[in-house]
Amino acid sequence: MYKLLLVRYGELGLKGKNRNQFINCLVKNIKTALSDLPPRRVESTWGRILIEVGDDFDLVVQALSQVFGIYSFSPVLEASWQMEAIFEAALQVLLDALPAGGSFKVESRRSDKNFPLESPEISRRAASYLFDRIGEEYRADMHHPEATVNIEIRTEGAYVYGQSLPGAKGLPVGCGGRVMLLLSGGIDSPVAGWMAMKRGAALEAVHFHSFPFTGEKSKEKVIDLCRLLSRRQGAPVKLHVVHFTEMQKAIHEHCREEYGITIMRRMMFRIAEKIARRRSALALYTGESLGQVASQTLESMSVINDVVKLPVLRPLVGLDKEEIIKIAQQIGSFETSILPYEDCCTIFLPNYPKIRPRINETEAEEAKFDWEELLKDCLGNIETLVIGVRD
Ligand code: ATP
Ligand code: MG
Repeated sequence: MYKLLLVRYGELGLKGKNRNQFINCLVKNIKTALSDLPPRRVESTWGRILIEVGDDFDLVVQALSQVFGIYSFSPVLEASWQMEAIFEAALQVLLDALPAGGSFKVESRRSDKNFPLESPEISRRAASYLFDRIGEEYRADMHHPEATVNIEIRTEGAYVYGQSLPGAKGLPVGCGGRVMLLLSGGIDSPVAGWMAMKRGAALEAVHFHSFPFTGEKSKEKVIDLCRLLSRRQGAPVKLHVVHFTEMQKAIHEHCREEYGITIMRRMMFRIAEKIARRRSALALYTGESLGQVASQTLESMSVINDVVKLPVLRPLVGLDKEEIIKIAQQIGSFETSILPYEDCCTIFLPNYPKIRPRINETEAEEAKFDWEELLKDCLGNIETLVIGVRD
């Protein structure tokens, strides 16, 4: 019976002057999310977005529930400003929600004050219209109703609905600039990327690959993760694969073993920052969580962070592994992440990595080899793949 969905985008309302830009971005993302389905009207009106639905109702609902920036959405009936038309729609909504009777209330909102009745009066009259037409198996309950019939009076018409479905929340992907995710094949970094998108950032990823220590399978795993992230982004994810073998071998050969991880991660950050600047990304994103492993103590993070100027954002910093796994399962990355292929972090792994590295010692170790030349080689030999949605 419903031919329209009304989309709410709560948080965007707070964005003042940038509001139009945010709304346009959300409308664009909604259109992309629905692009596999037949074309339809997606219209932005005052403070809401309206979407036409047909026989594909369930598919549209499924696609919309994945779009960041949507707070909630409702199947609605549209009526003119005529009382009779509005109340008739209310009756249909009520019978749809409670076909066999039960408790309900009517709630009204009048965003256009030119409508001749105030909200409580609209609700009162609607309830009386409904009770004239329904049986004794229905009753009013203002506090714990089984169903609520909502009437929204807006300039362009009246909208009547029963249920509100939860949206993915967050902000529309792409409205917040671009970031560069350091994406391993592990559990944490895809979750970090998902969180970046949830807050509106458009995602590109850099992956450090150490062939033949890490094989084709481990690269494919990262490509699969990008494909998954690209679906949430509604656009392909650019993946920059850095060939890191020579750098890792040189670190292993020249530096004290306990400093291997610290130095490897400083090299990763240096390279990721350079790629980010080339691609106009405004921050690096990682899946680090405070204290999780030796390279993620405060001392390690500070020594590693020392080599870059761009902000390094770590959305998982306060989460336990268990909490991260739960999100990974929810977003569908977990199964791929636990496939048992080597990551470059697990090769040449020292027995006792430095938990509290010192900056001067780290620099002294780095001074033992010509890393700048190797860094140039890494940057000159990047394989960039465009993954997902339209590949
Ligand atoms: P993850 O599960 O994301 O691999 P982790 O708990 O295994 O994280 P580390 O392996 O120490 O922790 O890596 C910390 C972060 O460094 C990762 O979340 C990721 O952002 C980045 N990182 C690690 N390895 C790579 C890699 N091969 N390529 C790109 N980024 C990487
Ligand atoms: Mg890892």
